[in-house]
Amino acid sequence: MKPITVKAIKLYPIAMSLVETLKTSSGDEPFKTGIIARLETDDGVIGWGEASPEIAPGYNYETVGTALHIMSEFLVPALLGKTLQSATEVPSLFGRVRGHDLAKHGLEAAVWDALAKTNALSLMQLFAAHLPDNQQPRGYANVGVSIGIKPSIEETLQVIEKRLGQGYGRIKLKIEPGWDVELARGVRKVFPDIVMMLDANSAYTLANADHLKQLDEFNLLMIEQPLGHDDIYEHSKLQPQLKTSICLDESICSANDLRLALELGALRILNLKPARVGGYTESLEIYKICVEHNLPLWIGGLMETGIGRAANLAFASLPAVNLPCDISATDRYYDPDLTEPPFYLGTKSRISAPTSPGIGVEVNTNRLEAAARRWTIEHVYENYF
Ligand code: MG
Repeated sequence: MKPITVKAIKLYPIAMSLVETLKTSSGDEPFKTGIIARLETDDGVIGWGEASPEIAPGYNYETVGTALHIMSEFLVPALLGKTLQSATEVPSLFGRVRGHDLAKHGLEAAVWDALAKTNALSLMQLFAAHLPDNQQPRGYANVGVSIGIKPSIEETLQVIEKRLGQGYGRIKLKIEPGWDVELARGVRKVFPDIVMMLDANSAYTLANADHLKQLDEFNLLMIEQPLGHDDIYEHSKLQPQLKTSICLDESICSANDLRLALELGALRILNLKPARVGGYTESLEIYKICVEHNLPLWIGGLMETGIGRAANLAFASLPAVNLPCDISATDRYYDPDLTEPPFYLGTKSRISAPTSPGIGVEVNTNRLEAAARRWTIEHVYENYF
């Protein structure tokens, strides 16, 4: 592997208009926000990474403001001038900063991209190079689509119909108390056989166990993160009471969290968001644990632009990612995206991972600058609250 030396890094806080507002149990998402990192090497290679903090500390404690602060004051200085043989060296350079995984991920991803481009490898090839020989990428990700909370079951059915028509092979519905059992029943009546799962985004407590047991009759692929966003213990008490598999998302922030959750029996499926665990280095460690334990794995998303989406697709094309991922075609969220070409849904509910070097898509600088201007001038905070 040819190493890179980090010459310069520029950060772009962005606000992107969404094609359709996404309502989850934590509220409406009016804009997709984030920070795009543009890393330049001594050889003039440009690597791109995306950090996905939200406007407010709703997903985790990070925000665009905290991520900009941590990146510009601590993480960027730790990278500048460094010569790196592998992106897996980045976490130790960031070792003096505790937490702030979304911020770390954005910069580590830019290093992965720059190294892959320098060595004329696609990102999926570079990820596979860090795994045993039998873990060769498939070249595509199996994907599904996520549907937010709608005003009625009727409207939910219409959206499901539309998404199935577009070719999505797995439907995920966001739920919250009062919008769960009847929703699942209503959908199953019309679509008895679709691959369906529910995502609670931590909207319940262990006291709701009997209520949640009613979901067992709907043949769900899984229920995602029913209890506390940072809980593992109570999930381990709930899982034995349910036939439905629990998938953990928010509460698995590291390989160690996953080891604990497996030890306690708190999950049967993992939703890995590379951003949530601080980057692809930690994601590869988690991947290896999933292989070792035969734990079904899929890749979730934080509504990334094409920059983050391309890299997640590369990871999702690894063979142990064996359940449909929350990685949609570009037109699900953006028109236009920051990158070209867009990602399209292929047959069998698949999206191809890019094969060109690095992230394998081109960043449109005009659109990136427009998204950065939108962040600066559109008073996104006022629109949020
Ligand atoms: Mg989730």
